[in-house]
This record gives sequence, C-alpha cells and structure tokens, in this order.
Amino acid sequence: MIQCPKCQSEYGYSDGMAYNCPECGHMWTDHSLEEEKVLDAVGNELKEGDDVTIIRDLKMGKDTLKRGTRAKNIRILDEPKNGHDLEGRVDGVGALYLKSEVVKKM
Ligand SMILES: [Zn+2]
Repeated sequence: MIQCPKCQSEYGYSDGMAYNCPECGHMWTDHSLEEEKVLDAVGNELKEGDDVTIIRDLKMGKDTLKRGTRAKNIRILDEPKNGHDLEGRVDGVGALYLKSEVVKKM
C-alpha cells in the first residue's frame, strides 16, 4: 500500500519515477518525503512562527532589503513560489516570500 502524504488516500501507485495519487493528483518521491525539513543558511531547522534575519542584501524591484533585516513569524510554503520556500512579515514592507538559504534563525 502506498499512502498519499497529502490526502491520505491508500490508492497511491508508483510509475517507476515517482508516486502518484489518483484521488488528489499529488505526485511525490521518497526524496521529497525526506525533504520535509527546511534549513536556514547555517543549517538550523526552521519552523512555522520563527523569526529570522536576512543574511544578504536582497533586491526587490527598485528597493533593496538590507542584510540584517528581520522577518517575523515565518510560514513554510507547501509549494515553493519561484524558489521561495518561506513567507515572513517585514516591518514597513509587509508579507514577503523568502528563500531559506538567505535567512538565519534568530
Ligand atoms: Zn492524494
């Protein structure tokens, strides 16, 4: 039995490359199951609600988000958006997508 990690359906099947769920359309691999942990730039595990600092200047359109800026109350995205796997709130900016490799847990 292959259980879908998303909808818990018991009808998952392997097509040789990945596992598929016929009920919700989810596709996953053994590798993606092991990749649940999100690590910051220095290898600390990040959890929902953590506060982080940004470790390098990030270009945001015309503005630059300075190194050392705090992002509060991060959320880990289920589906990365353009390679961004976190969302956090920055004072004066609002909610932002961030990459785990450019932040450090506080
Ligand atoms: Zn499913």
